[in-house]
Amino acid sequence: SLDAAQLDAYWMPFTANRQFKKAPRLLTRADGMFFTDDKGRQVLDGIAGLWCVNAGHNRPRIVQAIQNQAAELDFAPPFQMAHPKAFELAERLAAIMPKGLSKVFYTNSGSESVDTALKMAIAYHRVRGEGARTRLIGRERGYHGVNFGGISVGGMVANRKMFGTMLGGVDHIRHTHDPARNAFSVGQPAHGAEFADDLERLVALHDASTIAAVIVEPVAGSTGVLIPPQGYLQRLREICDKHGILLIFDEVITGFGRTGNPFAAQTFGVTPDLMTVAKGLTNGCVPMGAVFASDKIHDAFMNGPEHLIEFFHGYTYSAHPLACAAALGTLDTYAEEGLLTRAAEMQGYFAECLHAMKGEPHVIDVRNMGLVGGIELSPLPGEPAKRAFNVFLDCWDKGLLIRTTGDTIALSPPLIIERSHIDQIFDTLRGALRRAA
Ligand code: PMP
Repeated sequence: SLDAAQLDAYWMPFTANRQFKKAPRLLTRADGMFFTDDKGRQVLDGIAGLWCVNAGHNRPRIVQAIQNQAAELDFAPPFQMAHPKAFELAERLAAIMPKGLSKVFYTNSGSESVDTALKMAIAYHRVRGEGARTRLIGRERGYHGVNFGGISVGGMVANRKMFGTMLGGVDHIRHTHDPARNAFSVGQPAHGAEFADDLERLVALHDASTIAAVIVEPVAGSTGVLIPPQGYLQRLREICDKHGILLIFDEVITGFGRTGNPFAAQTFGVTPDLMTVAKGLTNGCVPMGAVFASDKIHDAFMNGPEHLIEFFHGYTYSAHPLACAAALGTLDTYAEEGLLTRAAEMQGYFAECLHAMKGEPHVIDVRNMGLVGGIELSPLPGEPAKRAFNVFLDCWDKGLLIRTTGDTIALSPPLIIERSHIDQIFDTLRGALRRAA
């Protein structure tokens, strides 16, 4: 265990983790569906690490790929230089992308992917001589990482309020006038498309010819597992097409099999112009993100008139050899075990168990798509997020890792999950809910 000086030496990310010092939780190993903690306890991973370990932990193909790569080529500068695996990976990714997307730009995280996609969208219009299109539209209760672009288009006001000036020319689609309410689950209109009407309002307000892009998560994860009704994303696509606005899907959570297809774009049948991914791209093993782009966007930068553009953007570690190797090992594992569609097979039983939670104490709503689930609890009076956090602590004591976002419990287990693990998740949760104040 750790002494006080050690606990102070490392500044834990996210302020809520000040609570961590009171009862440090240390993970020392992981295999398949389970973590092992420093006391030797087995903890079932109900959230795939942090929505990322989709193939489960310690997968031999991925471990081997990283080890081999480290011994062969540890680094290659991505500036005027490359290495073969960067291209091999791009080809492999293109084969599973939604039809219409085909090109890859590498980053190192979800936040970097988001800021890259926003810059691409603005630069794309500029290359085409439509430089007035600089405005970006996000969505209330959207989460797009923590870099300045991401918090500007994101809808979490708490993430922004400390930092003063955000990106200029940003607005947000609203579904309700109360951002604390989950519009997608309470009082859904019969036709989901109506939720997209607010984008029409913004288009009229700002003049369509000033808008570069709209960014949304197909299913919002970090703000409470919010699943849009059918028709909503289609309608956003139609409005964007009508006005020459690019549509960006942030699939950092929903990518790589979470909703039953490789990407949620395929599950919903709507293709964006740009897509951000990270997390499941390398099964969480090595940091990596990417932006997927359509031919038209790629060609504007790479095949247009030379003098028009240098898209001066990229990272030292873009296409890092270890990350590319890890991603190739990950894609092999997904392919060999059918994991990119496995959520569709397991969804029935998972959903049945999830919906059975509706009768448990404090549960006011449950939401599901593929192998992602949200269980919303009524808040403890005057203490928002506390009840769910108490459930998290109780589950941890009983050997289950979940995640909470506000008063919603989020589940997103590795896709290798079996029925017995699903039983363990919901038995543990049921016990914790029944004990919760
Ligand atoms: N976008 C979405 C939709 C996310 O869920 C997250 C992380 N949870 C991010 C972006 C940011 O990713 P990262 O933490 O890798 O920067």
